[in-house]
Amino acid sequence: MTDARVLDADVGVVGAGPAGMVASARLAAAGLSVVVLDEGQRAGGQIFRQLPGGAPHPARGAEPPSHARGDTLLAAFADRDVTLRRGATVWDARPGRLWFEQDGASWLLRCRRIVLAPGAYDRCVPFPGWTLPGVVTAGALQVMVRGFGVVPGQRALVAGSGPLLLPTVTALTGAGVEVVAALEASSRWRALRALGGVLGNGGRRREAAWYARRLLGAGVRLRWGWTVFACEGDGRVQRAVIGKVDRDGRPRRDTARTIEVDVVGAGFGLVPSIELGLRLGCAARFVAARGGHCLVVDGAQRTSVPEVLAAGEICGVGGAEVAMAEGDVVAGTILHELRGIAPPAAAGRRAAAERRAADRLLAAFAPLPGLHELATPATIVCRCEDVTLQQARDAAALHGTSARAIKLGCRAGMGPCQARICGPSLQALAAGRPDQPMDLPVVQLPVRPVTTATILAAPAG
Ligand SMILES: Cc1cc2nc3c(=O)[nH]c(=O)nc-3n(C[C@H](O)[C@H](O)[C@H](O)COP(=O)(O)OP(=O)(O)OC[C@H]3O[C@@H](n4cnc5c(N)ncnc54)[C@H](O)[C@@H]3O)c2cc1C
Repeated sequence: MTDARVLDADVGVVGAGPAGMVASARLAAAGLSVVVLDEGQRAGGQIFRQLPGGAPHPARGAEPPSHARGDTLLAAFADRDVTLRRGATVWDARPGRLWFEQDGASWLLRCRRIVLAPGAYDRCVPFPGWTLPGVVTAGALQVMVRGFGVVPGQRALVAGSGPLLLPTVTALTGAGVEVVAALEASSRWRALRALGGVLGNGGRRREAAWYARRLLGAGVRLRWGWTVFACEGDGRVQRAVIGKVDRDGRPRRDTARTIEVDVVGAGFGLVPSIELGLRLGCAARFVAARGGHCLVVDGAQRTSVPEVLAAGEICGVGGAEVAMAEGDVVAGTILHELRGIAPPAAAGRRAAAERRAADRLLAAFAPLPGLHELATPATIVCRCEDVTLQQARDAAALHGTSARAIKLGCRAGMGPCQARICGPSLQALAAGRPDQPMDLPVVQLPVRPVTTATILAAPAG
C-alpha cells in the first residue's frame, strides 16, 4: 500500500466467481501479487454461494454434483496468497486502474493487468404484475435460499427460459417450498437442439440426469412451451395466470389458467455484465444465444484493450465450466506476459471445447421475441422510473427508436439499476422490433451505485 487509499498489485481481478477465483489462485501460486475485488461478502460468485459464517443453507443437499467442485475451488482460493477485498464495489476503470468503494471509503487499485470476471445478471421480460411484491427473478430466489438461507414462500411458480430454471426449482424444493408449476417457454422440440451440447459433454450429461431425478423425486413436471402471462394479488402476489406460448414465444391466450401462488421466480436467461468492459473501451459484439452484448476476446482471453483480459459470463453466458476454463487461460496468458512462462495449449483447447458445448446448449434457449407480447400498454417496463410500455412507445414515436432516444424521451433506464433490468427488452418493446439486436448500452459513471462522497474522494489515477 503506497497511500491510505491506493493499492498496488500485479493483477487486479473484478469478481470472485469461478472465473476470477481460478485465475487469481493460479496467478498467486506463481508468485504474482493479486487483489480480487468483489461486491459480495464471500467468494464463490453466483453459483458457489456460501451463507454467512458458513452456516448450512436450507437447500444444502439439493445441490448438483458439480457444486462439489466449488468447495475444492474455494479451499484452493483461500489457501493462496490472494488479497480478497469483500464488499468492494468497482465503479470506474481505466487501463491499469480500478476505482472501488469499500466500507464507505473510496479506493484506487493500480495494477499491471486487469482481469474482468463480473459475471451476468438475470434477464427480465415485463408482464402484467411483474412488479408486485413476491414476484422476483429466478436468480434472486436462488440468492435468497442459497445465499441468505431465506425460505421465500410456500407455493412457488418458476417460469422463464434457460438452464437456470432447474437449479431454481431444486433450491426451492430442497428448502421445503412446493413448486406448483415450472414453466419453460422454449418448446421441447427447440430444446432438442441443445442435446448435442449436453450428450457430448460428460459433466453436463451427469448434471442433466441429476436434475431430472430431483424433479421427478419432488413431483415437479417441467412444462415446455408454457410461461407466466400475468401475476395478480392484493398488495402482493396471490395468483398467477399461466398458459402456452407458440414457437416464437407469443402467448396463446385461449390456454390461460389461474393458479394460486405466494412467490414467483421469473428468469428469462442471463445478460453479460459488460459495463466495466465498455468503460475501459473494450470491443463488444451481440450474440443472442450468449445473452446479448458480450466482450470480444481472442483465444488467450485478451480484450481489444491492451492489458485488460476477461473471462466467464462477461464474454458471453456459458456457465461455470466455461468460466473456470477461461479463468485458467487468463492466468496462463498473464504468466506468459509477465513471467515468460509458456501457456499450456491444453488450457486453451479445454476452454474452447467448453464454450462450444455451452453455445450448443444455450442456442436452444435464445430469447423468444414473442414473449414481448406479454406486456400490455399499462405494464411498467422500467421499474426504477415507473415508465409504462405506452410511455416508452410514445417516447420512441416522438424521439426515435434508438436506446438513447427512448431513454431521453421517457427516463426509462435512468434509475439506480442504470438499465440493467429494463435495458435488455426496452428497445424491443418500445420500438416494436423484438427480434433485432438492441443498441450497445451507453455506460454512465458510476458503473455501480456508490455514494457521491466516494466519487468526490476518488484518488486521482
Ligand atoms: C443470480 C444468479 C444465480 C445463478 N445460479 C447458478 C446456478 O445455480 N447454477 C449454475 O450453473 N449457474 C448459475 N448461474 C450462472 C452463473 O453466472 C455462472 O454459471 C457462473 O457463476 C459464472 O461465473 P463468473 O465467474 O463468470 O461470474 P459470477 O459467478 O457471476 O461472479 C461474478 C462476481 O463478480 C462480482 N461483481 C460483479 N460486478 C462487480 C463490480 N462492479 N464490483 C465488484 N464485484 C463485482 C459479483 O459480486 C460476483 O461475485 C447464476 C447466475 C446468476 C446471475
